[in-house]
Amino acid sequence: MIINGIAASEGIGIGKVIIVTAAPKEIEDYEPENKESEVARFTEAADGFCEDTEKMAAELEKAASAKEAAILRSHIQMARDPFIISQITEEINKGSCAEAAAEKVFTSVMEMFTATGDPMTMERATDVGDIKNRLIMKLQGVGNINPSAVPPGTIIVTEDLTPSMTVGITGDKVSGIITAKGGYTSHSAILSRALGIPAVLSAEDIMTTIKADDEVIVDGSEGIVIINPSQNDRDKYKKKAAEFTKMKTRLRAYRGKPSVSADGIRKQIVANIGSPKGGVIAKNEDAEGIGLLRTEFLYMNRVSAPLEEEQFEAYKKVAETFGNKPVIIRTLDIGGDKDVPYLNLPKEDNPFIGCRAIRFCLRSPDLFRTQLRALLRAGAYGNVRIMLPMITTLEEVHETRKLLDQCIEELACEGKEFNPDVPLGIMIETPAAVIIADRLAEEVDFFSIGTNDLTGYTMCADRGNNLVSYLYSVFNPAVLTCIKRICEHAHQAGIPVGMCGEAASEPALIPILLAFGLDEFSVSHEKILSTRHNISLWTKEEADQIAGHALSLDKASEIRNYLNEQIETKRAR
Ligand code: PEP
Ligand code: MG
Repeated sequence: MIINGIAASEGIGIGKVIIVTAAPKEIEDYEPENKESEVARFTEAADGFCEDTEKMAAELEKAASAKEAAILRSHIQMARDPFIISQITEEINKGSCAEAAAEKVFTSVMEMFTATGDPMTMERATDVGDIKNRLIMKLQGVGNINPSAVPPGTIIVTEDLTPSMTVGITGDKVSGIITAKGGYTSHSAILSRALGIPAVLSAEDIMTTIKADDEVIVDGSEGIVIINPSQNDRDKYKKKAAEFTKMKTRLRAYRGKPSVSADGIRKQIVANIGSPKGGVIAKNEDAEGIGLLRTEFLYMNRVSAPLEEEQFEAYKKVAETFGNKPVIIRTLDIGGDKDVPYLNLPKEDNPFIGCRAIRFCLRSPDLFRTQLRALLRAGAYGNVRIMLPMITTLEEVHETRKLLDQCIEELACEGKEFNPDVPLGIMIETPAAVIIADRLAEEVDFFSIGTNDLTGYTMCADRGNNLVSYLYSVFNPAVLTCIKRICEHAHQAGIPVGMCGEAASEPALIPILLAFGLDEFSVSHEKILSTRHNISLWTKEEADQIAGHALSLDKASEIRNYLNEQIETKRAR
């Protein structure tokens, strides 16, 4: 069976499915043939649940404190509670399957707790609901993954891969990712690319058509999923996987070479990373620095915000990895699709245009200052630059400068080692920033174009919404005109301009970006060499001609087709 989706991370993955869901599948009750073995099935699931929970508690104890771990350990006690176990056994003996029996018994405990009216006991009902869901998911063979525990050759299938779910996934265990939701620039797609794991997103009806343990081929280059493939398909895709590896080997010729256009104009190819480990990988892949370190990783999957020292160590590590090469570190861009429970982000109807990124940081000055102090201190160990996300006004830059000045003063008084001259740049990813780009350029040290959000905000099309994905394209004349304008204003003010959105590594777009004079291309590590190759194909004169014609076209599809034709003709020569 073939399913189509969005080609989100190239390459071929072949393996066995593990379904990851946040909630159990619907329960269809049936009378078990052998009640004794049904009780044994429940006991086995409960044992597995307790084992998983103990592991989670031990990890939490290390990352947080014994208090948080104790809450999880109380879940084990409840799953082992003799009264609950006897009730579930009784339900099974009366003719229910284990899932239905667990559902019934735990729901009645929840109702009992809720009926007390005592706030503390009522809160416990939420815990019981959590235990119920996780136990039923264990019985159904679906559940949250422990990425380090999955066998090699695992294909992860999930409704939507949230950023917190993805922490810990590595390419040596996970061969492919398939989701029911998400687009090319969703964070799950970005992460899959960064990890070099083939991924197909928004795969049609995937959750209802696929089962745990199905054998699957994920073609992340074409956006195709083949469930239980024929021998023919298997052979065909093994060959395709080998060709993909060969192409990667050919690109190795670009290692250690400068990034230059065909007529010798020097560009910088830097990397987008999400952790210090990503920095090491990017360095090995020949990145000329870091164009975007997303710092959210430090704040997620924990119960309280990271302290200055922990942040400082993480930023310092990346700075040291790159020596005197630039390392652009973006301040916290939380909100939107990235939630962090302990920050108590307000529930908003439109979180993408709500209190996220710089807006949230300026409302939480203590949290923001901790990060700024850590960044200034890391600046003493390399070529660190600070970048602010989602800027829409000059005041946001001014307020941040004020906080930076305060931090500089504090650090000087404390006698700490730091760099008071860390450059401050901004992401241009909102239409407001494009409109006032000339004024912003006078106030900051560099621009970096965030095409992922800029495309969404310019086209008013949510980057994860399938219904409007036809509008979400960087090839729209509106978006290209924004990019042109940003480059012009940066250069008029004498500051460099980079691009850290996914469009920076889009082969068809390279001549346009060369024509606009983009200085720096920030791409995921596996796109470094192919971007260097694509830049080497064009002279400025050719790029100018192509850009001139492309911008005279009216439709995104026309522009994309025209640019694809150009690159194909060039490659065929
Ligand atoms: C962007 O919007 O282009 C960007 C790089 O930021 P993020 O994808 O993290 O929102
Ligand atoms: Mg963004």
